[in-house]
Amino acid sequence: MDPHERRPRAGLGWGRLLTVLTMALVAVVGYYGIRGSSPALPRLRPVRITPQQEIAIGLQAAPAMAQRYGGLSTDRQARQRVDRVCHDLVEKTEARRSPYDFDCHVLADAQTADAFALPGGQVFVTAGLMEKVPSDAGLAGVLGHEIAHVLDRHGTERIAQTRIAPGLTGAAVLAAYDPADPASRRKAAVATLIGRLIDLRFSPAEEAAADRLGSRLAAEAGYDPQGAAQAMRLLATASYERGARGEEGVPPQKAAF
Ligand SMILES: [Zn+2]
Repeated sequence: MDPHERRPRAGLGWGRLLTVLTMALVAVVGYYGIRGSSPALPRLRPVRITPQQEIAIGLQAAPAMAQRYGGLSTDRQARQRVDRVCHDLVEKTEARRSPYDFDCHVLADAQTADAFALPGGQVFVTAGLMEKVPSDAGLAGVLGHEIAHVLDRHGTERIAQTRIAPGLTGAAVLAAYDPADPASRRKAAVATLIGRLIDLRFSPAEEAAADRLGSRLAAEAGYDPQGAAQAMRLLATASYERGARGEEGVPPQKAAF
């Protein structure tokens, strides 16, 4: 199914309509609550997305991410290297105090040189990028940058702002998402979120922030900061090229607003 399809289907029942209307009402109440122009209405807090919800949505999106880049690599040496550097970056730094569950994977795609992060801690680096980054310091730069995107919740904030349907934002879908039973509710909306997640692009400001925090993590974990910085420049070129190619999926300016 095309995840961006918005035409009503035969299965659209009253329950679904009620949910959408409720979301619209919440949006209106939230708007006036924030503006403070209607003192009779309670002031609503922004929806709360828990780290458990971020972890669960990231885990659910991980297979789709792997599939897009040739699946997970079977190269044992590469996997062990990524595991070791990833472990250092998480256990020897401030990242260990975070609520996230980090797991770094190697993607089999040798043609693409790129790396990605999903909310909650699923991190990916392609075989093609690993080939271009022979030093562990360089790999620490790449993984540190991706771990930083997770810690700063860049992906979570992006999809929270995504409009899934009229009156229904990614934030509302995520806030209602039950990590214990991820497939139980709003299956179509969750599938849309996952499609957006694996196509995420970050702003230049977010990339710069990930470079700064990533460098700090690499240095804190004992890796040469210069080697790390060099690899991050490679990564910046990769994501610039990815953006320029447009690739399949939704370009960032349409995915988020
Ligand atoms: Zn980045």
